[in-house]
Amino acid sequence: MNKTVSILGSTGSIGTQSLAVCRKMGYTVVALTAHSNWKLMEQQIREFSPKFAALTDSQAAWELKQRVKDTDTTVLEGMEGVLKISSYPHQDTVINALMGVAGLLPTVKAIEAGNNVALANKETLVAGGKLVTELVKKKGVLLTPIDSEHSAIFQCLQGNDINSVKRLIITASGGPFYGRSREELAGIKKEQALKHPNWSMGAKITIDSSTLMNKGLEFIEAMWLFSMPPEKIDIVVHQQSIIHSMVEYRDGSVMAQMGVPDMTIPIQYALTWPHRYESPAKQLDLLSCTELTFRKPDMETFTCLADCIEAAKRGGLYPCIVNGANEEAVSLFLQDKIGYLDLFTAVHKALNHFDLGDYSTVEEVLEADRKAREFVREIFCK
Ligand code: NDP
Ligand code: MG
Repeated sequence: MNKTVSILGSTGSIGTQSLAVCRKMGYTVVALTAHSNWKLMEQQIREFSPKFAALTDSQAAWELKQRVKDTDTTVLEGMEGVLKISSYPHQDTVINALMGVAGLLPTVKAIEAGNNVALANKETLVAGGKLVTELVKKKGVLLTPIDSEHSAIFQCLQGNDINSVKRLIITASGGPFYGRSREELAGIKKEQALKHPNWSMGAKITIDSSTLMNKGLEFIEAMWLFSMPPEKIDIVVHQQSIIHSMVEYRDGSVMAQMGVPDMTIPIQYALTWPHRYESPAKQLDLLSCTELTFRKPDMETFTCLADCIEAAKRGGLYPCIVNGANEEAVSLFLQDKIGYLDLFTAVHKALNHFDLGDYSTVEEVLEADRKAREFVREIFCK
């Protein structure tokens, strides 16, 4: 079945794997967006001939325009270009593989235009989950998860009554520093934190995985995707990353989704649901899985996870605050401006600094995000 899709963040880790799925499924790619990587974007334009391409960096957009003059692709510029693409009506699905809260407005515009969204950009739901899920219901569009844990839960829920769910069990690989004490985390350099044991991903999510912030963001993402209260979500460390998450039902059955750690599997399912097709991903060799282990996460050392759960319980703008503080802190860490332990400090201090209520508009969410970032810069960059 042919499908028309656009990919926001096509030059990134999820973006390139989404294009691999589109290539394999023979989908029509109507539009692509990225921030500044015009070189890779040029190659993607030449292969997929999209109607539109947008780069948010204006210098890069200018460069790309010169390079693809001989093609039929119209090059757009800035966030307006991304929003034009996400709200373009003649498409089936917008894949949101942008990094960070920058993905929120494009998600909102896509849904408002009546487009289905396949969502990798978890920050969209963490910061603005209430708004986004209300809009999904109002517009009657499909919001399918790409994040592997959420795809696993989505798969384990198929054919079951959501009211008979006892709890969602999100698995965590534990990241490269699982088992270390706080003292042992001090002095970690970005080169060490950028090495994930099981997954190859963009820089920001790799850092988030090492601090367990990623698991905290996923906790909040799960609340919104599956309308679950925090008490019904648990996290277990499963270092092998073979079980991608589980659902426990009230009759005592626990359903798990297993597979090799390969994001093309959840990306494909998000686009083909409820159908399944052949995948080029490796087959899971059960005999090589000599052990599957499950442990309690160490939230005293990896405080980002505890802080996200606390933000989830407080609700309102708190998840947006911890997310914004973390995004700013990760950016500073990647620029060698702060140390590894400062990542934990930033999130913890931001959570406890603000006195906030609820929100009803995107503007309120983005304003809270801006305040959280400013707060983090003030702590570390004075
Ligand atoms: P990458 O950093 O690899 O890619 C991000 C993409 O977004 C790139 O195309 C980048 O363009 C573009 N981009 C970055 N910042 C902006 C901005 N401010 N405005 C517009 N475009 C921007 O990220 P990942 O692919 O790893 O992750 C994307 C999302 O998917 C994240 O939310 C992440 O948490 C989630 N995710 C990722 C997984 C993975 O395996 N990678 C797994 C599960 C979820 P350019 O290349 O030009 O900079
Ligand atoms: Mg994940």
